[in-house]
Amino acid sequence: VYLPGRNLLLLAKSTVWCALHDVEAIALGTLKGNPFADSGAEFLSLFGSLVQLGLDRPLEVRTPFAGFTKAQVLELGRDLSLEHTFSCIAPVAAHHCGRCNKCAERRNGFAEAGIEDRTVYSAA
Ligand SMILES: [Zn+2]
Repeated sequence: VYLPGRNLLLLAKSTVWCALHDVEAIALGTLKGNPFADSGAEFLSLFGSLVQLGLDRPLEVRTPFAGFTKAQVLELGRDLSLEHTFSCIAPVAAHHCGRCNKCAERRNGFAEAGIEDRTVYSAA
């Protein structure tokens, strides 16, 4: 499953919320190797300019994990309740589907990091 403009859609709605609540920075969890144009530095910088133009508010889009793989990010959170994080793009009854590419990345990341995956997946 590939959702064109996924980051654009995620940013659009949250950006309006930020503008209404005087929040001037937003963090996007894009990872190293993300191939999509709407996760690149140029796009995100221009997005901030667009927000300034359209909402008359400054907005900086930060990507603190852009240099990290999924496994490296999981390693950073090793001691956290990672089963409460969410990354699926096709949830089933509020659970990870277990079949989409994001669930595959998630499973692979846990395996690569050597961390037990306590995520509830709809499909095995
Ligand atoms: Zn999924």
